[in-house]
Amino acid sequence: MNGVPEFSALQGTVYVGQITCSRWSEGFELRHRDDAGCAAEALTLHEDPEHAAQLALYDDAGAYRPLKTAPNLRHGWRLVVADEAALRLALDLFYPARLGAWRAFAAGRLAVTPLRETLGRQTGMYRVAGKLTDEQADALVGRFCRSDGGCLRAILWRQDAAGAVPSARLPPEKFDPAHDQTGGKHGPDTALIPLLCQEACNLLVAEARAVVKGERAGS
Ligand code: SF4
Repeated sequence: MNGVPEFSALQGTVYVGQITCSRWSEGFELRHRDDAGCAAEALTLHEDPEHAAQLALYDDAGAYRPLKTAPNLRHGWRLVVADEAALRLALDLFYPARLGAWRAFAAGRLAVTPLRETLGRQTGMYRVAGKLTDEQADALVGRFCRSDGGCLRAILWRQDAAGAVPSARLPPEKFDPAHDQTGGKHGPDTALIPLLCQEACNLLVAEARAVVKGERAGS
């Protein structure tokens, strides 16, 4: 497909969220970016791409990670996979559906949904989330989606169909797919595959409900 990037076309090291991917023998090696300088023997070796699901489940303290794009990926492992298909599988388990979103975005066919539309179509116990005020939305998104402690995705959606910014409390780079949301550095020999957010996630919707119901601070 024209215009759609492929892993095989990327040279050197590729960063995906908190993960660094490098060529390793005939395949690829993945590890936490913070562990890039660690000796291989110091990290626990995994060779099954499906182990990524387990590695993504808990943080360093053993707490469950409900949001897979939160900046709390556990450390201390390396995952060696045989080929690009296995690499894709592993990354899809670490960051579900994010490679697909990146490819769709690069091809200009990623559908993006404004926050008001997402909240407005909720049913049942989440219908009340649609009553979130603009001020509450500004505070909620600014708190919940922030890259330092919240979520590493770059936000593509707007607050409404008129294009209002999702939160004035977030820096402009939070909406820039080319920006490294981890705050890390990458040079000419590294490529960055962004984690994109094309629509408010279920966790944000649940938080919106909690704010409207007064169970969470709204400003
Ligand atoms: S709405 Fe998007 S950016 Fe915000 S926490 Fe959910 S996935 Fe992350």
